[in-house]
Amino acid sequence: PFDLLNIGGGPAGMAAAVYAARKGIRTGLLAERMGGQLNDTLGIENYPAQLHTEGPKLAAELEAHARHYEVQLMNLQRAVRLLPAAQPGGLIGVELASGAVLKARSVVLSTGARWRNMNVPGETEYKNRGVAYCPHCDGPLFKGKRTAVIGGGNSGVEAAIDLAGIVQHVTLLEFADELRADAVLQAKLRSLPNVSVITQAQTTEVLGDGARVVGLRYTDRRSGTPQELALEGIFVQIGLVPNTEWLKGTLELNRFGEIAIDAKGHTSLPGVFAAGDCTTVPYKQIVIAAGEGAKAALSAFDYLIRTPQA
Ligand code: FAD
Repeated sequence: PFDLLNIGGGPAGMAAAVYAARKGIRTGLLAERMGGQLNDTLGIENYPAQLHTEGPKLAAELEAHARHYEVQLMNLQRAVRLLPAAQPGGLIGVELASGAVLKARSVVLSTGARWRNMNVPGETEYKNRGVAYCPHCDGPLFKGKRTAVIGGGNSGVEAAIDLAGIVQHVTLLEFADELRADAVLQAKLRSLPNVSVITQAQTTEVLGDGARVVGLRYTDRRSGTPQELALEGIFVQIGLVPNTEWLKGTLELNRFGEIAIDAKGHTSLPGVFAAGDCTTVPYKQIVIAAGEGAKAALSAFDYLIRTPQA
């Protein structure tokens, strides 16, 4: 059995694996796709000490770092079930889609999350070429440009407020007839001179010139008429979904499906820790996921030295 088994090969899982392996304990890491969301990221300009790097490059460097410490890496493996230990200090099972069951004395869950897509023509084609999901990451790329934010919940309104300080103009589009964000955010939003809000707007298409986004098409649901906006950037803020469906009923999740953790990365199950975008930790970012992974591994190590083997 492993002393520590990490589920997930993004920045959280990789950082956890490095921290664990450096303690000299038997460490494994399995992932459906090594690198996680980094594989879908072009420029990264907010990782400390890296003015600019690329997602796949950072993913390869994280993997090389884990290999250096002899972490046993298992790529293209999907966990489908977590089998809690019979008693504290007992072995925890992780069942894979292949049917195999791996055993470990402690587990770090770092299965990440995925942005909900609009599923309209042009969205996939223009991803990273005007279609963006993270204002903290990509906001500065649209300095002085016209942008839209899709979604009038808290994330959408926060994104619009954030972008308004950087870009020329923000149009916020909401499907329903009113915004769902907290009143204080809505008041802040409406006080900004370069933001307009359109409700009852159903986005239907991302328009591009072959190279980049040039506009957005939506239907005004009141009148049923199609409308067009000319702009350079579209931030989609209709939800970040944690990859935790397979854990439902096994440990505590919040109403968004995020794994509930405390300040040390403990979940509701003894010996099971969690880190990164799949958890309740606020702000889903690479540097935060990596820090949380390190923390979860240190907590797991603490658990291992304090808990007699059952
Ligand atoms: P992830 O990176 O999501 O990794 C999850 C891992 O778990 C993957 O290996 C996945 O295959 C695996 N997994 C999931 N389910 C299972 C399962 N059941 N069994 C086995 N393995 C499983 N952040 C920044 O800080 N700066 C940026 O510039 C930036 N740009 C971004 C651009 C895009 C397009 C996207 C999508 C995200 C961006 N982010 C950025 C966010 C950042 O990528 C995430 O916050 C970070 O990757 C989260 O790391 P994580 O390890 O928690 O999860």
